[in-house]
Amino acid sequence: MSSFSHNKSTESNYAFDRHITIVQLTEFVEFTAHKVDIQNVYTPSQLKEQTTFVENLVKDICVNVGKTEPTLATDGVLNRGSYYDGTKIVNADEYDYEPLLTLSKAVTEVSEFSVFPNQGFRTVRIDTKMLPKPLPAQCLKDINENGVAELSSKELLKFLHCTILEALKYMNTVELKKSVRKHMDQGVVDHYMPHPHDTPYLKGEVSVHSALHGPSVWLRVGAPLGTTDIDLCFCLRSKACDKHVMVSARYRSYESHWLESIIDLPEVQKYKLTLPHNKLLLTLKYMTHLACTVHGGSHVSSHILRTVLLHHQRNCQETDLGECLLSIIKNFMIKPGEKFDYDANMVHLIVNAIEIHDIVHHETTLRTNSMKRVPMLIVLLWIVQQTRHNEDSTWIQRIVDPQFPGNISDDDMLHSLVTSLDFWDNSYSKNPPTRIFQWHHGNTATHVSITGDW
Ligand SMILES: [Zn+2]
Repeated sequence: MSSFSHNKSTESNYAFDRHITIVQLTEFVEFTAHKVDIQNVYTPSQLKEQTTFVENLVKDICVNVGKTEPTLATDGVLNRGSYYDGTKIVNADEYDYEPLLTLSKAVTEVSEFSVFPNQGFRTVRIDTKMLPKPLPAQCLKDINENGVAELSSKELLKFLHCTILEALKYMNTVELKKSVRKHMDQGVVDHYMPHPHDTPYLKGEVSVHSALHGPSVWLRVGAPLGTTDIDLCFCLRSKACDKHVMVSARYRSYESHWLESIIDLPEVQKYKLTLPHNKLLLTLKYMTHLACTVHGGSHVSSHILRTVLLHHQRNCQETDLGECLLSIIKNFMIKPGEKFDYDANMVHLIVNAIEIHDIVHHETTLRTNSMKRVPMLIVLLWIVQQTRHNEDSTWIQRIVDPQFPGNISDDDMLHSLVTSLDFWDNSYSKNPPTRIFQWHHGNTATHVSITGDW
């Protein structure tokens, strides 16, 4: 027989194998996106009770902040974030809001922040004579003879942080969480650092994170479905802002300027994911969540995952979610020097942070560190290899089970995923130049190596 027919046969086998992988990956994404969507985790009435509780609390806080400091009064609250855009996974435990400050009426001028042009950063000036009560001096810069001054976003946010705590003290619908740490006021908690003596939040108990949280004040509250985080990102919106919402920027060491919120941009449709890509977002969010569940640490931000998907969406010609997932891994997640050789069953990753261009302001880069990125890639690549080499797809149910990884035994095929993440976790504090392990999927093994400064 000629080699031609042999090659042809190999090629068609390859095409068939690849087709099976794509079909299984597509099923995996469809199943995962459905299962982890909080709309399918809770009943509608449970979600309604939770959301009503949180929204009423936020309204109550905003009213009381305005009573405590009239200059910080608000006129309405915008719902933001994954709960409201339908991409919240697993728990209804995070809500984001943008309360609209009435201070917006005093804005006289919004100009480009010249240090970082074309990135949505703005300098905001206000007429201090229009304020119901003077702001603390540190909130204002370069005040002129007419009383017009630059409004420092960071100082205003600090003022809001203090005022929210003050307002909470006088609200009889909530109780301040007792701080178990020395030198911390009642109701002030470092939400990043669980303390051994912390008790679960009872319904109505509330705390404020000890520091500013990006452009927001971060609250934690005992809500009907359990402990829930609330991000309050106070914002400005007026004609002078060109109708856009401006939030605190806090970018590098320049912390007095503001950032135009991309959600209000005129071409907002361009920045929306299609329904299939939205399913991929839910799945990717679950992959990073899973990596954290097994090995700890923090997850790759939803904003970065959405940006990755938006970059992919611009040129996506795929008809299957499985093809989309492979394309995303190859083009946006595997970085120069790294390798995912699908045919040779070989994975090589580097302990490195990555940067990705912001989808709206291309000169702005978003960064995610190796502690977040590599574990997520371990999960993703393990799944691709598993679908490729093993026809048994029962693991898909177990991986989205809330009990995972507690629901698997040592001879479970998912065990090698868990040991890889454990291995990564145990290796991180040591300093070998290279770490090597193998994933066994039935009769075939994938060779995995990770190098870098650990
Ligand atoms: Zn796609």
